[in-house]
This record gives sequence, C-alpha cells and structure tokens, in this order.
Amino acid sequence: MDTNKLSELLGGWEGYRLGTVGRASQVEQRGEKPEIWIELHPDPQHPRRCGGCGQVVAAIHETTERWIRDLPILDADTWLLVHRVRVKCPECGPRVEQLDWLDARARFTRRFADSVVRLAALLPIKQVAQFYDLHWETVKRLHKEHLQRTLGPPDLTGIEVIAMDEFAIQKGQRYATVVVEPYRKQVLWVGRGRGREDIRPFYELLGAEGRARLKAVVMDMNGAYEAEMRAQCPQAEAVFDLFHVVAKYGREVIDRVRVDEANRLKHDQAARKVVKGSRWLLLRNPDNIKRDEDRVRLAELLAANRKLAKVYILKEDLKQLWDYRHVGYAWRFWLDWYRRAIRSRIEPLKTFARRLKEKIDGVLSHCRWPLHTSLLEGINNKIKVIKRMAYGYRDDEYFFLRIRDAFPGIP
Ligand SMILES: [Zn+2]
Repeated sequence: MDTNKLSELLGGWEGYRLGTVGRASQVEQRGEKPEIWIELHPDPQHPRRCGGCGQVVAAIHETTERWIRDLPILDADTWLLVHRVRVKCPECGPRVEQLDWLDARARFTRRFADSVVRLAALLPIKQVAQFYDLHWETVKRLHKEHLQRTLGPPDLTGIEVIAMDEFAIQKGQRYATVVVEPYRKQVLWVGRGRGREDIRPFYELLGAEGRARLKAVVMDMNGAYEAEMRAQCPQAEAVFDLFHVVAKYGREVIDRVRVDEANRLKHDQAARKVVKGSRWLLLRNPDNIKRDEDRVRLAELLAANRKLAKVYILKEDLKQLWDYRHVGYAWRFWLDWYRRAIRSRIEPLKTFARRLKEKIDGVLSHCRWPLHTSLLEGINNKIKVIKRMAYGYRDDEYFFLRIRDAFPGIP
C-alpha cells in the first residue's frame, strides 16, 4: 500500500504528503522513549485556504519549517517537520493557511492538544505534564484555552432560585464566591471576594428582569450576601442552609464547650485528653462514623460529660428543623428547641440560640424552598478537589473556569 494512502486511512494530515520518516534509535539505546520524525510536504493538488478569511487562495507566499508535536505512534513520541504554507491572500495579504488539524501558531496538532485536555480533566496537571513530557504551564494553558473556547456565557434566563457560597482560594488568605442554580446544579458565576461589592457584578449580569424574577437565595448567614440580596431583589427570600448553620454551631457552641470542659478537667489528665481529642467525633455527622471503636469512644464521652452530651444532642436535633415542609410544624419544633437551649445554662449555646432566633425566618423559609441541603457542601468539596488538581499555579481565572466546567448543569 502507498504510504500516503495509509496515512489518509489513519486520519493523518490533510493537505500534506509524507516526506522522510525517521526513528531515533540512539535514544532507545539510552533507554529513553523512542522518537519518530515525519516530514510533511504540502500536497500540490490540495486547495489552500486563507487563515484570515477562509477563502481558497491559489497563490502561495512561502513555506516555513515547523516542528509540531503529534500523538505518539505505537508508543514512540512523534514529531512532525511541517513545511507550513503561507498563502498570499488578495484580501488579507500573506497568511498562514487554515487547517483542521493544526492551529495557526500551535506547536501541537489539535488531536494532541485534545488528548492533553481530556487527561487534564481527570488527573492533576503535574501528572499530565509528566505523562506527555510537557511543562506544567503548557498543560495548564492548553486546558485553559479549551475551557475558554467551550464554556460559553452561562444561561441566566428564567432563573428563580440561586445558591451562593464562599470558598477559600489560598489557605484562607483570599476568598471567592460561587453562584449556583440548584435544580440544574449549574455554576452560573464565580468571582473574587465575598463582600457586597464583590457579588454585585453577578446581580448586574442578571439584569433588572432577572433580579425581579428571583424568588429565593440559599446562603450562609453571612451578612454581606443577605444585605446585597435585600438591596438588589427586595422580593426574594433568604434561605439559610443547614450545612452552614451546623458548621457555625460546631464552631460557636461545641468547640467552645469542649475547650471549657478540657480546662475544667486539668486535674484529671486522662479525662482531659479524651475531651481535647474529641473534636472530630463531636462535629462529624454520626452516620459518617463508621468504625466501631469511634462509636464506642463517642458514646463513652457523651456518657461521662453531661455538658458535651447536651450540646451534642441539641446539634443533632437542630438538623431536624430542615426536614420540615410545613412552616407551622417547623415553628413549633423551633420553639421547643429554643426553650431547651435557653434553659441549658450553657452560655455559648444560649448565645447561639438567641442569634439564630433573630434569623429564624431564613431557616423556616427552607420549608418553602426545600433544596437538598448537601448541595453547597458537595460543591464546596468539589472545589477543594479542583484546587488540589490545579495546585501550584495562581491563576484565578483558570481555577474559576474549572469550577464552572465541573458543574455544567443537567440539561
Ligand atoms: Zn484572506
């Protein structure tokens, strides 16, 4: 078979014919990965298109040699020496010709870049770079360009409910805000900061009509998110999410009581150590405590310490408030919970209950907007994974594109 026929059959290099083909054998003797070089000459029969306007141009301005990386052939790294055509376009002047398999200034074929991008969606950039023997930055750039090309502007039409959450960009040094459509599970917007003026661009993007249509915003009890929502969409309801309220309870009640109890027990070193080391057990959802020994430890701790037992039980009970779908029943449950908290004689718990009482409308509004409470928690966890995968490069724009890409929405 004619080698050019074979190349065509394998989906080779449209518009070009094979020249010299070589293999670097000395590299293999050194135990390195084999390399194949393929020289490609422009096929004189093939019509050439201008890279500027796309029209077929007969006049060739010049050809220039370029080394282009392609996908490996049977495990040999493959390099093409392309005699790249520049046409003399009557409209645009001298221009690099347009090809389906190679972009104008690219040093890789399109299928090579696509392959890098597919892998970059699954593996940390460092490993993709090692696999293809590329620089970290090259992999990142290829992936970023792909995301910029493929992720169009988000569709903001018809949106009635959004969820809004903050996340740390660098070890809690800087923050960003993510806005999600909770039914489609689509990330609509990501922006730096977590203050009122930081999230204002999202509301501007939504437009006057979109703002007027918005019915509810699921959020943390962060004052800035709520204040901006009230200013931009006075008709919308704030809905406080279980994940955040329970996390706040953990910090402001359980952690406080645990530290106080550990200090109180300073004459009983063994008991003190148990209390001090119990943070994880107390904050964890009990369904996620799998090991029997941890369950026993928790039961013993709660049996031995009345205060910790009380704040622990009230934490688990508080979560039930998000199970209600009827505001009247939820309200009665809340009043009972509040009474127990106030009578507990545990100061951090009383303070927490009083503060939550001021915001209780935002908790009860969950009955009208019963969104899955783990949504924001799930997005938060996924963002942490993306951060690890893209670790080592401080490019917020790329980071944000990856977050949008991870939640494209259910059509
Ligand atoms: Zn042209």
